[in-house]
Amino acid sequence: MFVIHKRVLIIFFTVVIASLLCAAVTYMLSEAAEDGAKERIIIDAGHGDPDGGAVGQRGTLEKDVNLSISMKLAEVLEGKGFSVVMTRTGDKGIYDDSCTTIREMKRSDMRARLSIMKNSGADLFVSIHMNSFTNKSANGLHIFYSKNHEEIEPLAVSIQDRVAKITGAATHAVKTADESLFLMKKPPVPAILAECGFLSNEQEEQKLTDSDYQAKLAWAIAEAIEDYYL
Ligand SMILES: [Zn+2]
Repeated sequence: MFVIHKRVLIIFFTVVIASLLCAAVTYMLSEAAEDGAKERIIIDAGHGDPDGGAVGQRGTLEKDVNLSISMKLAEVLEGKGFSVVMTRTGDKGIYDDSCTTIREMKRSDMRARLSIMKNSGADLFVSIHMNSFTNKSANGLHIFYSKNHEEIEPLAVSIQDRVAKITGAATHAVKTADESLFLMKKPPVPAILAECGFLSNEQEEQKLTDSDYQAKLAWAIAEAIEDYYL
C-alpha cells in the first residue's frame, strides 16, 4: 500500500512540476512574442540635398528641420520599443548615384522611398515636412493621411491634438493627402504626412529651428503613435 502511495505521490509531483515548467515557458514565450511584436515605423525625413524643400524667411532649409525632428522622433520611438526604419539619416536625398540631373535625382529618390515602404515590412509610414505659403502669417499644423488607408485617420487626428497641446501650434482640419504627392498616392502601408509648421512664417520658423521645440514635437508624435498601437 505504502509503495503505491509513494508512486502516486511521485507521479503527482512530477505532473505538478511539469505543468509549472510548461506555464513558465509559455509565459516567457508570450512575453518574448510581445516584445518582438512592437510595430515597425518608417520615419521619412522629407527632401534631402540637393532638394532643400521650403526655404524660411531666415534662410532655414526644410530638409534640415525635417531631418532633425525625424532623428529625435526615431530616438523616442526606439526608446518605447518600436522598430524604426529611417528613409534617410544623412543630408543627402536617397537617389541613385548614377543620376546626373536634379530631375533624375528627385525621381530616383521618390522611388527609393517607395521601395522602403514596400520592402521593410513596416506598419506605418510617417513623413515629416515643413510648410510654406505666400501669406506669411499662415501658421500651424497640417496633418494628412493616405486616402487608401482611412483607418489611420484617428492617429492623424491624435498626432495633431498632442502636438498642438504641447507646442501651442495652431490646428487645422486633418485631411486625406493630395494624391498628386507621389508617396501619398497609394502607399502600400498606412501613411501620415505631418507638416509641422510654416517656415514662411518668421516666428514659426524660429520655433521650428529650436532644438527643445523639435524635441517636444517629436515626443508628442511618438506618444500618439504609442497610444494608437496600445
Ligand atoms: Zn516638404
